[in-house]
Amino acid sequence: MRLVLLGVPGAGKGTQGRKLAERLQIPQIATGEILREAVKQGTPLGLAAKGRMDQGLLVPDDVVIGIVEDRLKAKDAARGFILDGFPRTVAQAEALDAMLARAGAPLDRVVNLTAPTEAVVERLSARLECPVCHRTYNPAGVAPQVAGFCDFHPDTALIQRLDDDRAKIQKRIEVFQAETAPLVSFYRASGRLRDIEGLGELEDVFARVLGALDGVTTGGAS
Ligand code: AMP
Repeated sequence: MRLVLLGVPGAGKGTQGRKLAERLQIPQIATGEILREAVKQGTPLGLAAKGRMDQGLLVPDDVVIGIVEDRLKAKDAARGFILDGFPRTVAQAEALDAMLARAGAPLDRVVNLTAPTEAVVERLSARLECPVCHRTYNPAGVAPQVAGFCDFHPDTALIQRLDDDRAKIQKRIEVFQAETAPLVSFYRASGRLRDIEGLGELEDVFARVLGALDGVTTGGAS
């Protein structure tokens, strides 16, 4: 199963991607997480990306394309993968198609999680993240069992992402509309796209995501 999760920031790509990765036993590859980890470690990649990320802007295409190309070569991606937050531009989508064509393993499906802007602004401004496992929590949705702490890392205080403040959320949504929304028609044209309502109970959305994989999943996912 080679899958892309598409959707505006806050539509639920990370949460649904994690559940799906567990269900299908394939890696979730989230470029935002890889970049945040690089920033945290202070690597050259992190130092180069930090300024743009902090402003809610995209990191240059060649940088993220390189990250994904390397990551897809890892052994654990041989059975499939879930891309979360990549591609975000048409140039990235074209580069992905080209690298998968070279490997003779094209994308099976693109799931487009949709959500209205007002709802994602509310979701993101209340969102808290575990700095260790990157699970996200939201008092109005999936709340942690102990307020302020990760269910899986009980000694770890949840944090708010630097780009989850209202001005930067707004900027990220604008960038999504300008740069990433065109990917919907890019993928629809090839018949690989399925639209899913991203709002609602976690399990209901997950059931819709699984439904969108009809005809592609092999065992256990339906
Ligand atoms: P995310 O965690 O997916 O919301 O990504 C956080 C930030 O990382 C974005 O606002 C961008 O600055 C950067 N980023 C993540 N994925 C990409 C991508 N595919 N292309 C460019 N920038 C990205």
